[in-house]
Amino acid sequence: METALFDAFDRDHLWHPYTSLSNPLPTYKVVRAEGCELELADGRRLVEGMSSWWCAIHGYSHPVLVKALQEQAATMSHVMFGGLTHEPAIALGKLLLGIAPPGLDKIFYADSGSVAVEAAMKMAIQADPRKTGFLTIRSGYHGDTWNAMSVCDPVTGMHGLFGSALPKRHFVPAPACRFGEAWRLEDFTPMGEAIRALRETLAAVILEPIVQGAGGMRFYHPEYLRALRRACDEAGVLLVFDEIATGFGRTGKRFAWEHAGVAPDIMCIGKALTGGMMTLSAVLTTAAVAERVCGGEARCFMHGPTFMANPLACAVARVSTELFLASPWQTRVGAIEAQLREELAPARALSAVADVRVLGAIGVIELRRPVDMASAQRFLVERGVWLRPFGRLLYAMPPYVIAPEQLTRLTQAMLALARTL
Ligand code: PMP
Repeated sequence: METALFDAFDRDHLWHPYTSLSNPLPTYKVVRAEGCELELADGRRLVEGMSSWWCAIHGYSHPVLVKALQEQAATMSHVMFGGLTHEPAIALGKLLLGIAPPGLDKIFYADSGSVAVEAAMKMAIQADPRKTGFLTIRSGYHGDTWNAMSVCDPVTGMHGLFGSALPKRHFVPAPACRFGEAWRLEDFTPMGEAIRALRETLAAVILEPIVQGAGGMRFYHPEYLRALRRACDEAGVLLVFDEIATGFGRTGKRFAWEHAGVAPDIMCIGKALTGGMMTLSAVLTTAAVAERVCGGEARCFMHGPTFMANPLACAVARVSTELFLASPWQTRVGAIEAQLREELAPARALSAVADVRVLGAIGVIELRRPVDMASAQRFLVERGVWLRPFGRLLYAMPPYVIAPEQLTRLTQAMLALARTL
């Protein structure tokens, strides 16, 4: 077995997310993932603080998920969804509708978060093809495909790079009023004004509810979403919530919209949907939107990926969601939140630190200056943790089954790194 921690073939031939092949960052070889730990090729074990980017809420190699996947693989790993259906898709659909926001009862399965965002935007346009505009808030992140990119933050996203090739969208400032602060009505003014001004041309407003993830790890006030729901209703504009990162308990609620108690017209979910076992996403919408989409010229929704409703992914998503719902996830996420608050608080006193914030099972140290990724990563691995800071953000979002001692290792490594900066 290859035991080198850094693999030459990988370095020379394999692209990693957002990296250069001419000047690649080191990539650590993992040979096993179990519980809340990753085992590296040199035998070291790291506490996993990222949940593989929001996904692995139950930790790794969970026997129930592994069994579901193996059983499904032995029966039917894939069939096309055009003209055929199967129990994994049906059973998952029933389960998802049981936990969906009120009114959402139609499901489109897609392959990844970005594709779900594409499908949601296409749905919004097909609902009324005369309206093709999209409005969103700054600091958002919705994925890497074309339309998903077009609603990511125009400065920190990829707008500059792709120039005029990207469709033009409308942006208003990100909400400034933070989660937990007193609500300031004026925080909504730019969004309210933009909706009124653009109402004739807007297909939808799209945003991440409560937590803006990859665009800055910002937590904003639930009242913003209530005001947004009212404004969209008044203007006859659809509202899309991207719950791809926030879904399945991460923010302390099952889905982040529950903090505000307002339902969107279209909702995207993904990531933790399969507990991190497979890629799968879903777009949920109302009967009213579905009717408009299918009542138009095309008479159908114009999207249908090859691997739509892949039985392996649906089977594991069902079991993962059942496991999540049956688990004491609220207690676990609450305990992680309390521990993150307590253990990250000392970072506030450090000169390199601009802010410390925690919501649910997400802990963020915002630095004053961007970290050097390669040396920060090495520092963290040497301390036995897997965390992947980006830009000025050093953050953890561990599996919900993390033990307090493991979480302490994560927070202490974060503090230790912040102290060196
Ligand atoms: N939306 C949000 C809010 C996300 O955080 C992400 C992924 N980080 C995506 C969409 C895109 O998902 P994927 O990477 O699965 O395409």
